[in-house]
Amino acid sequence: MTKRAVIPDPVLDIEQIRKDFPLLQTPVYGKPLVYLDNAATTQKPQVVLESLYNYYTRYNSNVHRGVHFLSQQATEAYEQARKKVAGFINARHEHEIIFTKGTTNSINLVASSFGKKFLQPGDEVLISAMEHHSNIVPWQMICEERGAALKVIPINEQGELRMEAFDELLTGKVKIVAVTYISNSLGTVNPIAEIINKAHAAGIPVLIDGAQAIQHVPIDVRELDADFFAFSGHKIYGPTGVGILYGKEEWLNEMPPYEGGGDMIKNVTFAKTTYNELPFKFEAGTPDIAGGIVLGTALDYVQQIGITAIRRAEEELIQYAYNRLSAISSLRFIGDAGHRSGAISFLVGDIHPFDMGEILDKQSIAVRTGHHCTQPVMDFFNIPGTVRASFAFYNTRSEVDLLVEGIEKAKRMLM
Ligand code: PMP
Repeated sequence: MTKRAVIPDPVLDIEQIRKDFPLLQTPVYGKPLVYLDNAATTQKPQVVLESLYNYYTRYNSNVHRGVHFLSQQATEAYEQARKKVAGFINARHEHEIIFTKGTTNSINLVASSFGKKFLQPGDEVLISAMEHHSNIVPWQMICEERGAALKVIPINEQGELRMEAFDELLTGKVKIVAVTYISNSLGTVNPIAEIINKAHAAGIPVLIDGAQAIQHVPIDVRELDADFFAFSGHKIYGPTGVGILYGKEEWLNEMPPYEGGGDMIKNVTFAKTTYNELPFKFEAGTPDIAGGIVLGTALDYVQQIGITAIRRAEEELIQYAYNRLSAISSLRFIGDAGHRSGAISFLVGDIHPFDMGEILDKQSIAVRTGHHCTQPVMDFFNIPGTVRASFAFYNTRSEVDLLVEGIEKAKRMLM
């Protein structure tokens, strides 16, 4: 395996941090892996893997049910994880933290449950033109069911929300606003504090899709005054299959259950069922117990490094990447927002993004190509897809240099 020099990072000891991640040490095609697909999913540190192993080897048992020793241990660890999540995003109450399968599941829960209770024919749901499909389709489905209309905040050529259009769209008909904090395909950071303030001034609740934010920026749901905040465990160095819906108590109490089954009930007869209290009302069936506990471990890990230090390191790295990519002739950025985080999307000449992705892959550089589950964004820019490099704090400047070299090589081969 050829050794690649790692340029020391000015903010965090990245070289040391990289040792925490077994997969970052695993070669691809006999060369060190350059993993730049972090917006799709992040790699997992050893402590997270050990936490999963510990659960299944030491206290695997069902939660909230058994009086026996193992069940009590599992329940305690699971509820402890809920507490960690509440602390991580500064929720007022632990019961405002609902364990779900991920961001998609969290948004479907709100769209379905909130929609059934609060959407009437003629009402509107306001989303944006840069949403991931998982913050479009659930709203489309419930709007169709309830006779409501889906409205869309447009974007400009830089891939930023057109806030003057938002002001106009924010009418008395809108019952909920659902927007992403950070775009997964453009890297745009949206002014969500302004969005929430304006929506609240009109008496409208806001759901924030935090799938691309939770791992990059500090989140304080109370300071933001978000009504709902959704994220996935696997994007913040935790496992797949688990995610979080934060919801304000006053909304969650008003909303009907999303799914029926065990755990979400207080009492069942064939004549009538009464529902459990928060958060269990929204957690039907055996949850991903291991996933919840291990997500807690992942959050501990992030907290130990510090999300503010992570943000600083990533901002510097992205600036470096942006500068280096800007110097490549015939490269154009798709989305060029003033405030960006996480991902950089681009196209080079007339090279199809898939061809670029394949050539980079053969150099052991993992990027994502395609529409990134944001087809309306691709339609807006009139392109089939983009090449997306997305960064985590464990990425280095040397990896950015390799990406640039890889792109130059693809240009020589294809242009
Ligand atoms: N929203 C955004 C902005 C995303 O980037 C993603 C994942 N790519 C999702 C929602 C969906 O997350 P998940 O697939 O983990 O449910």
